[in-house]
Amino acid sequence: MLNTPVPKFCPRKNCPCYQSLDNKITFDGTYKVKSSGERRQAFYCHGGQHRFSEMAYSTLFKKQGSVKEYSQAGKLIKYGLGVEQIADVLERDVRTIEGWVEGIADKSQKFHEFVQKC
Ligand SMILES: [Zn+2]
Repeated sequence: MLNTPVPKFCPRKNCPCYQSLDNKITFDGTYKVKSSGERRQAFYCHGGQHRFSEMAYSTLFKKQGSVKEYSQAGKLIKYGLGVEQIADVLERDVRTIEGWVEGIADKSQKFHEFVQKC
């Protein structure tokens, strides 16, 4: 088992459970990255009934968001707050929050390809 925390929300933008914190996410084995041969964790989104990879979150983390912060941001989105308000609450730059949201969107497309290959 890879040392990856189970995320609590779906990162796939076209999923009905996108960023829903009521959704159930579980481990779903691993998959191999063709280019590097690395194994990565895969997850299953129960609400949307699809697999996705841990890479969905990597862009977010690279942009200096912690899992906890991102989870908080997810909740705030759920409460209907805008990007600027979330940035204010988390004391982050607006562009950082925008980057998190865009990161999810970018990776969603790659997941879609990933899921189709599985
Ligand atoms: Zn989903």
